Amino acid sequence: MALFNKSKYLPLGLNIFRKKDDIVINKAVESHETEADEEAKTEEAVVSVKCRGCGKEITKTEAGRYKICPRCGKYFRLGARERIYITADRGSFTEFDAGMSAANPLGFPDYEEKIADMQKKTGIKDAVVTGKCTIGGQECVIGAMDSSFIMASMGSVVGEKLARAFEYAIAHKLPVVIFAASGGARMQEGIISLMQMSKTSAAAAKHSDAGGLYISVLTDPTTGGVTASFAMLGDIIIAEPKALVGFAGRRVIEGTIKQKLPDDFQTAEFQLEHGFVDIIVKREDMKDKLAELIRLHYGKGGGEQ
Ligand SMILES: [Zn+2]
Repeated sequence: MALFNKSKYLPLGLNIFRKKDDIVINKAVESHETEADEEAKTEEAVVSVKCRGCGKEITKTEAGRYKICPRCGKYFRLGARERIYITADRGSFTEFDAGMSAANPLGFPDYEEKIADMQKKTGIKDAVVTGKCTIGGQECVIGAMDSSFIMASMGSVVGEKLARAFEYAIAHKLPVVIFAASGGARMQEGIISLMQMSKTSAAAAKHSDAGGLYISVLTDPTTGGVTASFAMLGDIIIAEPKALVGFAGRRVIEGTIKQKLPDDFQTAEFQLEHGFVDIIVKREDMKDKLAELIRLHYGKGGGEQ
């Protein structure tokens, strides 16, 4: 069923976006390295985070490049730029729609202030960063969600950026890799937020119809409307170990069905066992695995090369 006839996914006649940028070259991922290195050097002695796995204080240096607790193996959550930094080949990333930012189409109280505050804290404009890059020499379109931006809830900007990323991939015959993470819908955008489920699903379907490979990587946590749309539509669905992957929360389900759920319910491992996930890949092996899968699908050299 065709949901959209237009080649570009347009908003619903509302002024949803403040700004529509075309593709821009963004140096932020590259400069992130320098900043991160500098930070690590100057702050490693003092900055530490409490591990949610073992409760021990772990310094940035100890957590290392992949941000994994050296004591218990717990994965710390990665920001969108950190994710792209450890996945894309060095210097290969070009960001799409870097300036796109949410307006307040429903006039939700304090939403504009919240967005501005989040942008300041995270250094990104909304909960997903998209662009193109190479992974192990294979050209692809990449998207990474950032749980530190309003719990990576999916509003109009996330939906539009992902739809545009798929459109770019269709036009250039490229595979798409999306690192999903989300708490669900962006409640401040109401129905417009829910529309992003069909929008991103339609874009993924169009890419699939064009013969493109879409790899979805589920990271902690992937829930709500993101699970119910593009995150579960990958040709190959990868998950990080122990990531929370589900739709509604445990308490909601237990309250509805009046039954106790198993302890490992909604873990990546549980979803693998029940057929929702194809493979669990460790963070340090992810880049090589993605490169291998893209190579298998497109042959040596990837998309357009
Ligand atoms: Zn730990």
